[in-house]
Amino acid sequence: MTESTIFDKIINKEIPADVVYEDEHTLAFKDINPQAPFHVLVIPKQRIATINDVNEQNSHLIGHLYVVAAKLAKEHGFAEEGYRVVMNCNEHGGQTVYHVHLHLLAGKPMGWPPY
Ligand code: 5GP
Repeated sequence: MTESTIFDKIINKEIPADVVYEDEHTLAFKDINPQAPFHVLVIPKQRIATINDVNEQNSHLIGHLYVVAAKLAKEHGFAEEGYRVVMNCNEHGGQTVYHVHLHLLAGKPMGWPPY
């Protein structure tokens, strides 16, 4: 089992978060340091440290993050203009919290490449 992170405290409601969606397997909440007008983190409630730890047994949890991200983008009116979903992995990927999370960023045009 990997070490617990701040996201476990958010899942367990030990610290507050601006939650925009919750179901049995997933939680989505506003990023504390938003990089776009709408910036939500979509996370599995089961701790998976990085995308390197995804396997046949837990991949349905990761797939569901995309279902939730698309649903939130539609509900908040971003589906037509578009948005970005990003999952960072380890140091070079820019990961700082070791509990996988999909960033859903919307509300402005995004640049590419991402550096
Ligand atoms: P990463 O850099 O790992 O891809 O993304 C981690 C994200 O978590 C960052 O965008 C950061 O702003 C966000 N974050 C870190 N701590 C907290 C927190 O306590 N609450 C919320 N809502 N977001 C957090």
